[in-house]
Amino acid sequence: MLFGTDKRVIVSQCEGCGHVTAIGDDKFCDAYPNPAAKWMAGSCNLGTHVQRKLGGETKKVNPLKASKKAMKGKA
Ligand code: SF4
Repeated sequence: MLFGTDKRVIVSQCEGCGHVTAIGDDKFCDAYPNPAAKWMAGSCNLGTHVQRKLGGETKKVNPLKASKKAMKGKA
């Protein structure tokens, strides 16, 4: 038990995160008590080292506006 809570040690995916706190030989997460559960359903949303992909390269084009631009020669 750590500070009155049931904190568990971090998992390998947590290495490099800013929320990792080392206490003695063990490392804990200061944002979430059970890191293994956080990583069970995908990557942790609180991880500072997790790279997130935003949106995509696909851009929606309104066909009406595209046709007007094409007529003006702006392509
Ligand atoms: S915030 Fe997420 S990734 Fe970072 S140590 Fe805690 S559980 Fe691991």
